[in-house]
Amino acid sequence: MPASPDDPPALPPPERRIFVNRTLNLRSIRAVGFDMDYTLVHYRVEIWERHAYERARATLERRGWPVGDLAFDAEFVILGLIIDLELGNLVKASRFGYVTRAFHGTSLIDFEHQRELYSRTLVDLSEPRWVFLNTLFSLSEALLFAQCVDLLDRGLLQPGTSYSELYKVVRGAVDRTHAEGALKAEIAANPERFVVPDPELAPTLRDLRHAGKKLMLVTNSEWSYTRAMMSHVLDAALPSGTSWRQLFDLCVVSARKPDFFLGQSPAFEIVSDDGLLRPKTEPMRWEKAYVGGNARELERDLDLSAEEILYVGDHLYSDVHVSKDLLRWRTALIVRGLEREVAAVESFREKQMELSVAMAEKERLEHAQCALRIALLRAEATGAAPEENFHAKQSGLRARLAELDQRIAPLASEAGELANSRWGLMMRSGIDKSYLARQLERYADAYTSRVSNLLAYTPFVYLRAPRVSLPHDENPVGSE
Ligand code: 5GP
Ligand code: MG
Repeated sequence: MPASPDDPPALPPPERRIFVNRTLNLRSIRAVGFDMDYTLVHYRVEIWERHAYERARATLERRGWPVGDLAFDAEFVILGLIIDLELGNLVKASRFGYVTRAFHGTSLIDFEHQRELYSRTLVDLSEPRWVFLNTLFSLSEALLFAQCVDLLDRGLLQPGTSYSELYKVVRGAVDRTHAEGALKAEIAANPERFVVPDPELAPTLRDLRHAGKKLMLVTNSEWSYTRAMMSHVLDAALPSGTSWRQLFDLCVVSARKPDFFLGQSPAFEIVSDDGLLRPKTEPMRWEKAYVGGNARELERDLDLSAEEILYVGDHLYSDVHVSKDLLRWRTALIVRGLEREVAAVESFREKQMELSVAMAEKERLEHAQCALRIALLRAEATGAAPEENFHAKQSGLRARLAELDQRIAPLASEAGELANSRWGLMMRSGIDKSYLARQLERYADAYTSRVSNLLAYTPFVYLRAPRVSLPHDENPVGSE
């Protein structure tokens, strides 16, 4: 059938869609702020994190730690897991903070033991015990910590060291790797090795400009690295004679998020391409680049109100949590792993239907079993005769339930290993939402796997939140 003129272009495939928690009309956004690393610039996690890991490992080796044999594994940890500093564990929790899977060091904790450890404990990120893995930069740190927990348990590190002290040392080593220039210099010299190209990024940003939006870059990376990476991902795709600097109306580097959103740090103006600074003496202006500063000053100087600013980043705490919580900016989270997650969910769709049908049947049979049992007890209490064929009915139900469980078990275990064999889906803990999903729905108005997914939606899109389902929307127990 020929397309009618009012047929819109097709939406992207499911894994490239934009998902909405709170309705967001892009027409009412005047300025779009972007984080850089893992937002505008997507690294090959396997390579970037391996380099970060190796450098941090070498730092620990220089301290005399026996870490020479440790190896990087990009699949060991996923975004949204939580480190338990008290017990040296890595856990996945549900939206309510119930631990649903746990590893001690690099070993899975069996279900019974996990229950013993956590039946009275809820994950609460306001306690110093827990460290949430907010960004892909956390993966190498969490892996190295888990591996060092194994070493400590085997008596190969200073006896008496607590897991919390151990974490501090590992954290310090990873922090140093990021802060030292060597890794960044290696990446900036060879960006194509580290960066995943995205030919749709430049057209997406240009569309936003065509639609009259101001574009802002607010990154924690420092100026020379930012220039190298932004130039690498954008310049070649822009009209000749222009650079990424003309695309962005404002740049803030070394922003020190989350402090950028929380504090009153002063800004310095960058006055030359090689990064010469001078204290800012007048209000922030479009077309300038700054080091540091703070979000309130940005709003005031550029005359923007909170609901006119959309900030897009990949760090759940530093980019979207604080900007939403404190300033009420509109927020979008970039979660690259979503592509794998959505594809895994799609490929399991038929089996998921089978599983849901089997679970509904199980619920129905269990209800019949309960009804039979209470009828017997009532009869016994009044001295009446038990239901006819009670025992036959009871054992028939038992057999059917056993047969159902045999069908359910492999499907349920497959569902628990989707996307990552150790941890399963990022966004789910069993049938519930994961802690990550809860954080995400609280603080991110929208989420998607990459900035360029916006290209197909256009800068005028009205992103509507779907009607959410509530437990009472479902059929009650025992209904057909
Ligand atoms: P953004 O995501 O704001 O664009 O920039 C992230 C920057 O923070 C990158 O330059 C990255 O290397 C740096 N970064 C990420 N994790 C750490 C860390 O643990 N310590 C330090 N010092 N820098 C970090
Ligand atoms: Mg980032």
